[in-house]
Amino acid sequence: MNKLKELARGKAKTLYETDDPDLLVMEYRDDTSAFDGGKMASLERKGRVNNRINAFIMQRLENAGVATHFVRLLNDRESLVKRLKMIPVECVIRNIAAGSLCKRLGVEEGLELSPPIFEFFLKNDELHDPMITDEHIRAFGWAEPEEVVQMKQLTAQINDVLAGLFADAGMLLVDYKVEFGRSGGRLLMGDEFTPDGCRLWDAETRRKMDKDRFRRDLGDVVETYEEVAARLGVDLS
Ligand code: ADP
Ligand code: UDP
Repeated sequence: MNKLKELARGKAKTLYETDDPDLLVMEYRDDTSAFDGGKMASLERKGRVNNRINAFIMQRLENAGVATHFVRLLNDRESLVKRLKMIPVECVIRNIAAGSLCKRLGVEEGLELSPPIFEFFLKNDELHDPMITDEHIRAFGWAEPEEVVQMKQLTAQINDVLAGLFADAGMLLVDYKVEFGRSGGRLLMGDEFTPDGCRLWDAETRRKMDKDRFRRDLGDVVETYEEVAARLGVDLS
């Protein structure tokens, strides 16, 4: 497998084509962004720890029957993934109130949500990722009706697997965002699952262990991601 030209450069990762048209190299950079790119920084070792955490989580999801784009780790910063035609929506599940939900509805951070709340957002930084419903997705053709059903089911299945995994490691999975894409007529989970795209709190103290450390200038961002990795048993050597 040879890495060829750059296909796309996002805010935190770069995708490269390979000599296999169905496979891409996903590079995790140290770049970190928040507020739709309004706040940016380069945090040493972040790409490496996220690449490793993502590989660990994707393998756990595959073992639990969730089909993902992940193929294998290539090196410290790169993984091989299946090329997807991405659906331009973000699927969010919230187990505990935090972030934009609190701002939007005036509810207190930390409120337990049972059953969890599912939300769709349009992936569009210029529009600041507005919240959308199934009806917008159908009206504008962003996904097929069956895909909408599948995205909700898969996001909930991911919650069942990962809430338990993080609980066993002493963390609360507060909320997270996942993306899906099409490959060979199937819907696969794409993108990443790392502390950049979810909220994790220490189960006892509720200390923030995710990108809110960067958003809110709490310090020790990468050190805390490395602690998440260590608690999960992710090999960082
Ligand atoms: P952003 O787009 O938010 O700036 P990233 O820097 O994480 O984020 O860029 C990764 C980009 O790659 C995203 O646009 C994501 O939707 C897309 N992507 C993720 N997985 C795949 C895949 N398997 N095939 C094609 N595109 C993908
Ligand atoms: N999220 C993300 N990318 C986005 C928007 C949200 O990864 O473009 C994640 C975010 O890290 C959190 C969850 O989705 O774990 C819910 O985010 P929220 O709607 O609260 O938005 P925020 O206030 O974090 O921007």
